[in-house]
Amino acid sequence: MRGTRIAGVGSRSEIIARFPDFPVEDFGDALILPGIVNTHTHLELTALRGYLENEENDFFAWLRKLTLARLEKLTPDDIRVSATWGACEAVRAGITSVGDASDSAMMSMLALHDVGLRGVVFQESFGPDPRLVSENFEKLRAKVAELRGVETDLVRAGVSPHAPYTVCGPQLERIARFARDEQLPLMMHAAESHAEELFVREGCGIFADGLAKRSIEWKAPRLSTIQYLKQLGVLDTQPLLAHCIRVDDADIETLRETGSKVAHCPKSNAKLGHGRAPFAKFLNAGVAVGFGSDSVASNNTCDILEEARFAVLLSRAGECDTLITASEALSTATAGGARCLNLAGKIGELTEGAEADLAVLSLTGPHQTPNYDPAATAIFASSGRDVIMTVVAGREVFRDGRVVGVDEERLRARMNEIREKL
Ligand SMILES: [Zn+2]
Repeated sequence: MRGTRIAGVGSRSEIIARFPDFPVEDFGDALILPGIVNTHTHLELTALRGYLENEENDFFAWLRKLTLARLEKLTPDDIRVSATWGACEAVRAGITSVGDASDSAMMSMLALHDVGLRGVVFQESFGPDPRLVSENFEKLRAKVAELRGVETDLVRAGVSPHAPYTVCGPQLERIARFARDEQLPLMMHAAESHAEELFVREGCGIFADGLAKRSIEWKAPRLSTIQYLKQLGVLDTQPLLAHCIRVDDADIETLRETGSKVAHCPKSNAKLGHGRAPFAKFLNAGVAVGFGSDSVASNNTCDILEEARFAVLLSRAGECDTLITASEALSTATAGGARCLNLAGKIGELTEGAEADLAVLSLTGPHQTPNYDPAATAIFASSGRDVIMTVVAGREVFRDGRVVGVDEERLRARMNEIREKL
């Protein structure tokens, strides 16, 4: 490594011959991986890990309890602690870049800065009521302006209209136009639940009932979510779409054609009983796909190696005609994630000149021995807990069991205080 970049890649003898003056480190039996990318998370919700288990059979109640906790019980400092703890968990698992969507996006931005993570922080926007579009849009615009003021070489701002059932059509159109005009990346939840499908296709179900109770008008487009988002211009932003479970072949072709990207979150999808996204079909169609943990409120860990193993096994269980390989999963966790965050070529690969984002995965555990094939050992036998060092832009952010420059003991004590309050 030289500065923030990778100076050379090769065997030990080649590298020593080429860079005789560079310090050399030996990690023993270990894999040096491109930094792992978590394409979809909500770091501000880290304090809600395990808090919503009793609501999991009712998605509406789950969302309501989550929203009440975030808006009414947590202070801004609680949210910052929560996001920072989540960022620590990420770098401990070899994650070097995140796509984070938060309501308190500024707190997530500061958490990424404090821990040294790379990523895109997407400011969330809500607003199911067409009468309030201007008001809600102005709120978003003001928050994005603040976020842009604290962007760095590592962290960019984006926008995230939450979901088709929490943001009305006119507001989605307005945000999509804003994202295009300002060249802001856009992430949103799409085609996630059966309830969402009922809402968009038929105009009924829990989300439609919820709007009716608030006297908010909803006329269903009677399309799939993907075709609805295309109609509104959202897909013209080449968005990153989280979940994409309820998609048919025509939708997958639309995703490919429009350059839309998929944040595949198999553990969250399974835990909430939403179903399984067609991971092998995305790969075969050439749709950009990366893995996302989603928030730990629905996972309950931020560990993309674990996510990758789960994704492969789940795909093989359900899409038996194509067996996804360990190498494909490793590539999805790194280069695929880089494409999803518009960072292809810059991160997600170990090549000369790329940014020095790395994870060192120890291979010495009993669960990894013997190791015949490094990709198979990484995906089928390892987890983020086997990571011994994480580097972002040439800087060690996790090493020797510690997140560098962060008082994790103080954060742990604060997380327990927040638990008591909740
Ligand atoms: Zn999410």
